[in-house]
Amino acid sequence: MAVIVDKAKCIGCGACTMECPFEALDIIDGVAVVDPAKCKDCTKCTKICPADALSMPERAKKAPEKAAQPNQAASAEEKKASKAQPAAEGEASGVWVIVEYINGNISQVSWELLGEGRKLADALGTELCAIVTGYQVDHVVTEAFAYGAEKVYVVDNPILKDYRTEPYADAIVDLSRKYKPEIILCGATSMGRDVFPAVATQLQTGLTADCTVLEIDPETRLFKMTRPAFGGNIMATIQCRTHRPQMSTVRPRVMAMPERVEGREGIIVREEVALNEADYRTKVVEFIAATAKSAFLDKAEIIVAVGLGIGSQKNMVIAEELADAIGGTIAGTRGAVESGWLSHDQQVGQTGVTVRPKVYIALGISGAIQHLVGMQTSDYIIAVNSDPEAAIFTVANYGIVGDLFQVVPALTAEFKERLQ
Ligand code: FAD
Repeated sequence: MAVIVDKAKCIGCGACTMECPFEALDIIDGVAVVDPAKCKDCTKCTKICPADALSMPERAKKAPEKAAQPNQAASAEEKKASKAQPAAEGEASGVWVIVEYINGNISQVSWELLGEGRKLADALGTELCAIVTGYQVDHVVTEAFAYGAEKVYVVDNPILKDYRTEPYADAIVDLSRKYKPEIILCGATSMGRDVFPAVATQLQTGLTADCTVLEIDPETRLFKMTRPAFGGNIMATIQCRTHRPQMSTVRPRVMAMPERVEGREGIIVREEVALNEADYRTKVVEFIAATAKSAFLDKAEIIVAVGLGIGSQKNMVIAEELADAIGGTIAGTRGAVESGWLSHDQQVGQTGVTVRPKVYIALGISGAIQHLVGMQTSDYIIAVNSDPEAAIFTVANYGIVGDLFQVVPALTAEFKERLQ
């Protein structure tokens, strides 16, 4: 059996030729042509085709009439059948949170989103579910309940041992087609930014990235996803009116952590999603963990951030001495990064990292909106700036108007003495 091309529909875009892992498709005279000897019936091309010109008609005829049962793998035909009928507005229900579990680490943003998801689920009068994908993940399920999930859908499969876009996307897409959630949330982490667009594309729905506020419209029950737009000058509230699920990513540390309740229990739904290693072109050869201190900026409890006011690379020592005295991590503005004083992964803000430390000390930072969106939810903000009108003072808990070259060494000396 091989994929069938509907030549009347094919637009010759070549998306299928790039998607096919077996090089079974080619574009000849403007339309896709299948080599039946090479086609392995993986149906990847049928999912990606924007014109719906590729299909497996023989199988589709045999597709079972019955509804899929829990704990039963959805077949390729069922997947295609549900692709043809995206979840309508009324039939979708439940707020889902993707739990990010990579290399033995659970990303904290997953729990922050369960906290936020709880509010959304309550506003909609629906259930809050966690999606746990990976290999040997029972302890992750326990944690998901502790942080408030009522139900956890689990796909536990050796193919998901290491994170890869395609199998993770397939697992989430499969679950979504089967259970039709109303809303899905995911962290705007490296994984979330990678897998969620792939999921949204396959589900033919919209995705709003990097949201800072999530709400339900009580009149319409629509999900209102708010995020900075136009360089951070305005906040845009975006809705996905006619397609489901409504999907959103949120950066780590933007939402508050919910309370963890040890021993809380819920419903576990184990799914045997049909994943086939031969379908995936990406193999994980080795995992090399990042070692730079800056890689953990979003987890830092004390941050000493510098702006252009620090003046030069050689002056960085002033900030570093303060950071050393109080156990802080160095970060900064885009201005400081573009000047070459810091690396890009140390940039805080709209196009950098979002942080939520206990203490954020801003040295010579004006407080542009693009910087504020990345740090304004810090517990305590202390700003040092020579300009009393600097916008950073509008978010600071403590403001020191003065020359940082005088203020900071004095602060460092004082901290050293008191913390001895
Ligand atoms: P400036 O705005 O030049 O401020 C320097 C400050 O230092 C001034 O307030 C000055 O009074 C003070 N100062 C000078 N000398 C002293 C002294 N001796 N003692 C004390 N204070 C002193 N920026 C980010 O930070 N992160 C982002 O992610 C980001 N993303 C962006 C995305 C877009 C699309 C755009 C358009 C911009 C983005 N920016 C971002 C840039 C942002 O708009 C600002 O230009 C930048 O944050 C300003 O950096 P700054 O505060 O270091 O410099």
